[in-house]
Amino acid sequence: MSKPILVATRHFPPAVEGRIARDFDVIFNDLGRPFTQAELLAAAQGADALFVSPADKLDAYFFESLPESVKVIASFSVGYDHIDLGAAAKRGVPVANTPNVLTNATADLAMLLLLGASRRASEGQDRVRSGRWRSEKLKELLGRDLGGKTLGILGLGRIGQALARRARAFDLKIHYSNRQQLPPEIEDGAVFHSNADELLGVSDFLSLHVPSTPETRYFLCRRRIELLPAGAIVVNTARGNLIKDRDLIDALKTGRIAAAGLDVFDGEPSVNPGYLDLPNVFLLPHMGSATIETRTAMGMLALDNIDAVLSKAPAPTLLHV
Ligand code: NAP
Repeated sequence: MSKPILVATRHFPPAVEGRIARDFDVIFNDLGRPFTQAELLAAAQGADALFVSPADKLDAYFFESLPESVKVIASFSVGYDHIDLGAAAKRGVPVANTPNVLTNATADLAMLLLLGASRRASEGQDRVRSGRWRSEKLKELLGRDLGGKTLGILGLGRIGQALARRARAFDLKIHYSNRQQLPPEIEDGAVFHSNADELLGVSDFLSLHVPSTPETRYFLCRRRIELLPAGAIVVNTARGNLIKDRDLIDALKTGRIAAAGLDVFDGEPSVNPGYLDLPNVFLLPHMGSATIETRTAMGMLALDNIDAVLSKAPAPTLLHV
């Protein structure tokens, strides 16, 4: 019996590619850059399933042009701001994401950024690597303590909650804002602010964990930066377009914001050049879920969804409009 045809727009850890090779006739993107939409649509001709990532923009035009053969799309991500779910529903193609399995790895990375930004890790590492580490003056490279300060979490969902658990071990007090207040057993002592602007007022550290939506886009702008305590530290592992880069860069230059730790960027993989010369930013290339275990689990969950839809069984993590 012939195998279903899968288009995979990127490569995956060995165990995931082994399962793909076993179960599918696969077309990989070997271009070393994301497919253009036209290339993805061309590759999808005759395919049963697409395995995409946030680098692939699946908009209304994409779904209008999608070949009839495609029965399911899985994204290698929990975020789905790159997919027009309404257009997918109109076309009648189910879409899956990979929640839960990447929660801990991404929360670990948010903690790394929080520590890296507050302890000036970029500058310290640069000092060693560049051979400029001489006899250090005791007043140099002084960072900020975490203990006793307040961490504001915008979006206390799966990843926000996992970060809160980690941050409590560093003696940070947790405040948060969601659209809906969580029950006390999930809040676990975290203080709710129904108004995100009020959260900013108390956040010595601010970590962003909301999805990118029309409401959250460019959330952190000049006006809201002014609401943060002077010398606050900002961390973003959610999506780059939650931050107005120009406004954050200006605030980092003056010290209004002491430091930032960023894993995601508006327009990535391009990065606003204003960040690159700043000593007080700790920058990573969107690697929140980048561990062998997590990326393998994400791949397996995506394939579970594809297999389930193709065999008309209930799929574990389909997205609904
Ligand atoms: P989640 O469980 O859905 O949590 C999102 C939280 O945001 C929820 O608590 C939600 O609560 C809140 N929220 C949504 N819209 C809001 C708004 N307009 N204002 C305030 N709060 C809002 O999602 P997750 O699994 O934690 O993932 C969060 C995001 O992280 C993803 O969307 C993705 O973009 C990003 N991510 C990045 C990486 C990486 O590699 N850097 C890895 C994984 C995920 P309410 O519904 O009550 O508002």
